[in-house]
Amino acid sequence: METFQEHYDSLLEAIAKYTPNVDMERINRAVEYADKKHSNQKRKDGSPYIIHPLAVAQIVVESGLDTDSILGALLHDCIEDTDTNHDDISRLFGPTVADLVEGVTKLTRVEYSSLEEQQMENLRKMFMAMSKDIRVILIKIADRLHNTRTMQYQTPAKQISKSMETMDIYAPLAHRLGMQRIKWEMEDTSLMYLDPNGYKELMGYLDAHHSESEEFVQAIQDNISERLAEAGIHGSISGRVKHVYSIYRKMKSQNKSIDELYDLYAFRIIVDTIPDCYNVLGHIHDLYNIVPGRFKDYISTPKPNMYQSLHTTVIGRQGIPFEVQIRTWEMHETAEYGIAAHWKYKEGIAGRGDEKEFEWVRRLLENQQEVDAEDYIHSLKVDMFDDEVFVFTPKGKVISLPSGSTPIDFAYAIHSAIGNTMVGAKINNRIAPYDQRLKNGDICEVITSKSARGPSRDWLKVCKSNQARIKIKQWFKKERRDENIMHGKASFEGELRHMSIQPSVLWQDEELIALLLKRNSFDCLDDLFAAIGYGGLSSIKAVNRIRDDLVHANRTAKETAAREAAKEAARDSSGAPKDRHKDSGIIVDGVDSCMIKFSRCCTPVPGDDIVGFITKGNGVSIHRRDCVNVRSMADPQNAGRWVNVEWSGDSEKLFSTSLEVRTLDRTNMLLDLATVLSTSKVHVSEIVGKNLPDGKVLFTVTFEVNNVKGLESVLYRVRCISGVLDVQRGQQ
Ligand code: MN
Repeated sequence: METFQEHYDSLLEAIAKYTPNVDMERINRAVEYADKKHSNQKRKDGSPYIIHPLAVAQIVVESGLDTDSILGALLHDCIEDTDTNHDDISRLFGPTVADLVEGVTKLTRVEYSSLEEQQMENLRKMFMAMSKDIRVILIKIADRLHNTRTMQYQTPAKQISKSMETMDIYAPLAHRLGMQRIKWEMEDTSLMYLDPNGYKELMGYLDAHHSESEEFVQAIQDNISERLAEAGIHGSISGRVKHVYSIYRKMKSQNKSIDELYDLYAFRIIVDTIPDCYNVLGHIHDLYNIVPGRFKDYISTPKPNMYQSLHTTVIGRQGIPFEVQIRTWEMHETAEYGIAAHWKYKEGIAGRGDEKEFEWVRRLLENQQEVDAEDYIHSLKVDMFDDEVFVFTPKGKVISLPSGSTPIDFAYAIHSAIGNTMVGAKINNRIAPYDQRLKNGDICEVITSKSARGPSRDWLKVCKSNQARIKIKQWFKKERRDENIMHGKASFEGELRHMSIQPSVLWQDEELIALLLKRNSFDCLDDLFAAIGYGGLSSIKAVNRIRDDLVHANRTAKETAAREAAKEAARDSSGAPKDRHKDSGIIVDGVDSCMIKFSRCCTPVPGDDIVGFITKGNGVSIHRRDCVNVRSMADPQNAGRWVNVEWSGDSEKLFSTSLEVRTLDRTNMLLDLATVLSTSKVHVSEIVGKNLPDGKVLFTVTFEVNNVKGLESVLYRVRCISGVLDVQRGQQ
């Protein structure tokens, strides 16, 4: 069993070797804190839990990271496994460390399931995007490396799923960040679990040929050393058999046995200067035969992960090909530790240097501009410029959406049928509003129902992606035909009324309808209305195409109506006093005297645009032209009963009318309303308040005014009261 002391000692050793400038006081405090917090926990092999954070911290140290990263590694499981939270860590070790630990915790909570390659790339991007600070990923990679090393204690099923995850996510991320050594170790160890036979076979071969290999490597090394000494170049040479997984992958992809496999060996020559690199290359090409097409100059054109070296493959006298990599010490550092190497220099020189946190990324982006580094730069950009958000389906599929997206965008990204039947959404298993912005790593679930009413027009304002917007509009066009017809008809008839033409004039005239359809190229009225309803045709255009004919028909209809009205009015008013209409303040078109009644539904006052309706036995009732009842009584059979009416001029008479006032539910609203009404010097007969389902309040105020001017001034003053949302003329 491994002990605390062993791991602590080896951490100190690593610090002395790799990062001697770190703040030991903070590190020791973090070790103590983590030890205390994890004291009740054991590793799978029974050893104390603290050895895991210590080992992760050691990997972080070996990668050359700074004090904050080491603290982050020591505390990385505290939020996940103990009662510690962000605030605690922030208070004790500073906000940066707290952010690092929280970042690692978030990545730990991301559920992995085996995915297609495109999905995997999204998942890797999501990891980058979720780690606001790249050190979060570096710590997470160290965490995974240690877990990979101690995989023997896991169940076989866990071993396989964890190894797949390592291969799919962590090894590519390590590669992307330039950490080759970690990548190799992850790949080799994972292979051991994923294909034990293949791994054994390969290791068996390499072991069997071990002494042969050793001899070969030694011979080549001696050979090169000799030559460099002759040439007076100072360099360090090392040779090795390539790592197992890279041989394995080549065997698989080229379908070759290991005997047939091309190059198993790699040599590395590290020199002091760049000119030395090219000098050494010359000597190598002089010593051995060049394999054509294998030379690569990554010094003049670095790899996207900042890797620099000269690569060449040559064949020695024994007929065995091998690769040679030539680089400077500085390039070597970058090749071994990748991005992590940049922290090595930062500390010690500029102290904490937080303000320079992203400087290297910026430098990297600048340097990479000519390189075809699309995918690497993009993956960092996700981190730097958040234009994308990555969200999970409940089954673990990763969906990429524009940032600011909502569950609506998510639903339509999955399938338009999901969006169209959505009745609710859950984010991370909690019911969420449709307009909640999704965050990286959220698990979003759409609740659908067969009886869903379909998208609402408000969704168009809420959604962020074009995909969702287009699909919602399509739905309105196709699915909501009935609604479109209704909206289209209302809009069309509104246009007629705007021209002071009763719709019934048109609907009674079959010839005119035929003309309307023909000129607008529709087969039936429903199609025409549907087109207006979804916005494919404007009602003005549709009306204008028969404008002249319509005006003509309207005039004829009015004349007929007036004649009939006169007859009826004469009958009705036989017993009524002759002057009644004068008192009423109304003049009825073409009729000398008749009974007048002001409708209670829309309470018209002088100045309103009005129309008269000949009632059965009660004379003419006066409505506002925009009254809902006027619209509802507009069927063709009533056409003859409408008469033109007008106000007779200024009258001292008071007219009763009403306003509907929608307000916030606040204290003293009624008092404020009453005050405004009384200072407006109108006679209020009634104020009724009622609570609306949305938590607002609707007041209906009934009062008397002389004319529409008086009414409008009241309306204006009421609208100015704070908390009033909207004021309308009363309508019953
Ligand atoms: Mn861990």
